Amino acid sequence: MNKRSVTILGAGLVGSVLAVLLRKRGYEVTVYERRSDMRKESIGAGRSINLAMSNRGWKALELAGLRAEIEAIAIPMPGRFLHQEDGTSAFQAYGKNGEAIYSVSRGELNKKLMDLAEQSGAKIHFNQRCTKVDVQRNTVHLLNEQGQEREMACDLLFGADGAFSSLRTAMSFTDRTNFSQHYIEAGYKELNIPAGPGGSWLIEKNALHIWPRHNYMMIALPNIDGSFTCTLFFPFEGNPSFASIRTEEEIRDFFTRQFPDAVPLMPTLVEDFLHNPVSSLITTRIFPWKHQDKSCLIGDAAHAIVPFYGQGMNAGFEDCSTLEALMAEHGEDWTTILAEFEKQRKPNADAVADLALNNFIEMRDKVADPAFLERKKIEKELGRRYAGRFNSVYEMVSFSHTPYAYALHCTKAQDTLMSRIQAEGDFFTNIEQPAFCERLEAWLKEYEATV
Ligand code: FAD
Repeated sequence: MNKRSVTILGAGLVGSVLAVLLRKRGYEVTVYERRSDMRKESIGAGRSINLAMSNRGWKALELAGLRAEIEAIAIPMPGRFLHQEDGTSAFQAYGKNGEAIYSVSRGELNKKLMDLAEQSGAKIHFNQRCTKVDVQRNTVHLLNEQGQEREMACDLLFGADGAFSSLRTAMSFTDRTNFSQHYIEAGYKELNIPAGPGGSWLIEKNALHIWPRHNYMMIALPNIDGSFTCTLFFPFEGNPSFASIRTEEEIRDFFTRQFPDAVPLMPTLVEDFLHNPVSSLITTRIFPWKHQDKSCLIGDAAHAIVPFYGQGMNAGFEDCSTLEALMAEHGEDWTTILAEFEKQRKPNADAVADLALNNFIEMRDKVADPAFLERKKIEKELGRRYAGRFNSVYEMVSFSHTPYAYALHCTKAQDTLMSRIQAEGDFFTNIEQPAFCERLEAWLKEYEATV
């Protein structure tokens, strides 16, 4: 059977990994990217945007053959560093055995993935914006820098063109396709903590910093050059909000009251706040993801989610790992590959979208609550004492390949179990009492029966 020739829209993170994996299986791969080649331009020079990479992302990089190279420029973050309202701070480990998520530069990762895609034989065409897709005829319209548009026929087409995908837009107008999009009430703005003397890190390097402030928060992730990229997640409207804080004085006053430990480390705070854009946060859901054996969505194009679990890219990379396994199993049978792909991935994409929305509340609000911090300690101890019987939802999502749908399913049962444990007082004293251990055993059995 002849190999299909593959067209990919978007040379972002997912499109580039997909190109590498398809080339490894011998497909002819052509990628069309709207932007210019970021390896040649100094786009965003001086600014570093980073992403948290966890187990699911590492697996796809390993399949692509890029894990070691990215690991060398990744900064492990084994826990959260909380900057509380009362001026206290605390480090809270994520995993029970020192597991970490990793801060990785988005630009460097994308550049290295593009290099690898080209070295594997994929052709990437830049400044080619897809303006329209005809799903029935499987053609794409591409607009170049000179304003010339052409229509091109595709054999097998992947839409890896992100949250506002042109293939997804076209699919959403086809009969019996369900589509929804939802913007949350908060947006985000990127700010900066520059490196200290000699490229040193001015706050704890190996942590994801959070300033939880109930209905908003700021976070900071370390960069390899000693700086931190801060992100303020903040309501668009109301008080305080992006709408209410506008002048230099209002910015200084607000930050000094709310983030007093960060302000002295942010010399360009006012300029950054005034000039950096406010971006919105969207969740999109669509089904089906494919049309016959001709076209398919992948990554954010299929499932854009809010960033509060640090899982958008990880989920997109897991899509690639799943597709790779299906290619290994089904050979050239793309009817089956695409049908199985959406069947396996759609419930997990929906679940990670919900987990991410729920985690906004956890990060901005609950992490400021001592009972929540205690719960996290208990979860880790339970995981250690009852290994194989209990694993926290956070650890399932970030440090395992457990399907997201199962992790979401466990959330309610874990809430019940933990509230029973916490209602009895200090867990670390109770756990030494045989009577408590008996009750705990019964609750655990009930938990296991539910999940
Ligand atoms: P994209 O990265 O959006 O790439 C799409 C590509 O397609 C781009 O290169 C674009 O230029 C191109 N394109 C778009 N339209 C067209 C067109 N019409 N024609 C041709 N080309 C086109 N995820 C994590 O796992 N961890 C994190 O810590 C994390 N933090 C985040 C923080 C923020 C503030 C945000 C907004 C997201 C975060 N994410 C995170 C999510 C992550 O950024 C996305 O899930 C990931 O970038 C998706 O990759 P993608 O390749 O599917 O889409």
